[in-house]
Amino acid sequence: MNESRPVSMESFWMPFTNNRDFKAHPRLLVSAEGMYYKDVDGRSILDGAAGLWCVPCGHAQPKIVAAVREMVGQLDFAPTFQMGHPAAFDLAEALMEYTNHRFGHVFYTNSGSEAVDTALKIALAYHKARGEASRTRFIGRERGYHGVGFGGISVGGIAGNRKPYGVMLPGVDHLPHTHNLEKNAYTRGEPEHGANLADELERIVTLHDASTIAAVIVEPVAGSTGVLIPPKGYLKRLRELCTKHGILLIFDEVITGFGRLTTPFAADYFDVEPDLMTTAKGLTNGTIPMGAVFSKKHIHDAFMDAPAGIELFHGYTYSGHPVACAASLATLEVFKEQKILEHAAGMAEYWADAVHSLKGLPHVIDIRTIGLIAGIELAPIAGKPGARAFAAFKQAFEDGILIRVTGDIIALSPPLVLEKKHIDELFGKLREVLKNLD
Ligand code: PLP
Repeated sequence: MNESRPVSMESFWMPFTNNRDFKAHPRLLVSAEGMYYKDVDGRSILDGAAGLWCVPCGHAQPKIVAAVREMVGQLDFAPTFQMGHPAAFDLAEALMEYTNHRFGHVFYTNSGSEAVDTALKIALAYHKARGEASRTRFIGRERGYHGVGFGGISVGGIAGNRKPYGVMLPGVDHLPHTHNLEKNAYTRGEPEHGANLADELERIVTLHDASTIAAVIVEPVAGSTGVLIPPKGYLKRLRELCTKHGILLIFDEVITGFGRLTTPFAADYFDVEPDLMTTAKGLTNGTIPMGAVFSKKHIHDAFMDAPAGIELFHGYTYSGHPVACAASLATLEVFKEQKILEHAAGMAEYWADAVHSLKGLPHVIDIRTIGLIAGIELAPIAGKPGARAFAAFKQAFEDGILIRVTGDIIALSPPLVLEKKHIDELFGKLREVLKNLD
């Protein structure tokens, strides 16, 4: 493939992108392997973001590439409505094993956004199936990101993702976010202060009455609004309150799933059991779009008591697409064979030391780390929110590192296969970027 050819950029309406700025100064990636992308000019770019948090095993893992190639030649598509194919069932069994059998069933989607909307619908239908049809409210959280479906933006707490659209799901309320720079700045792992913010759920329950609330949905660690790590005890308290009031707890593990915290899921890391769990991204190592909702057995079983017939009127043409299933099965094998989680755990301390060594650089007002995630918060330029971090992102790309920014926060989430030399390169270059930032 000749990648030095001119690329016409007019027609592609790019997602979550400043289209005009990008098209004036494009950043084009043409290949990827291991920890690095190559851009159109042949430069190596160290991937500090695992693409979009979605490549835990590193790029172009040979086993995953081979599995995709083989399946697309063998079974390019097969429906899963009233039909099936073995890989979809094999993957479901393998995923149950990967979750250590804490869940009983899995429902396939094509993305994190679809997984979120699926989980919300399952929650509503579950309560209805059990004779509690009045439970129709959802409780999300400020600064939460749950994808871009109408369900997801409604329970999400990002003003910019909601404001242009106006119409939202009715009856949604939000917990306060847990970010507290005054009390928790420069934390490694879970911050000390803020578990009491979970008690806001009691206030919300009092306001609306438990009998109207279907589910609470939170990201165990909020990623897209800049790495907000739950305070010690916060998630356990949420779990207790949901159980007390018969409310389902949904963990959105689209970014925390598949090893980001060095455990299979954040639920393992924090030792908290959600009723439903949404995943995507690392599920196929980012190679083929796929999402999945994990369900506790009793939730699934509540649907199986209905009169014979279709139990859940929901699904996507590509739910359990054979090529995605093959990619995911191979991803799980790579996790096991290459001991990805163990490797990530071995890197976490070196990672945290390196990130926290940036303390004191110009404009840095907070650094927070957990697992192989880092958030570096910059002071905004007055009147230009987000501009400083975006300038850092652009300069970093020029200097050969891919970082992700959201508002004025740099969020880092490298492939879990990184070595110490990659950490040194990433933070060596980022240090220079930050030193020279206006
Ligand atoms: N939920 C969370 C927590 C996410 O971080 C994301 C994407 O970043 C999504 C949902 C949406 O996933 P997708 O972009 O695959 O629809």
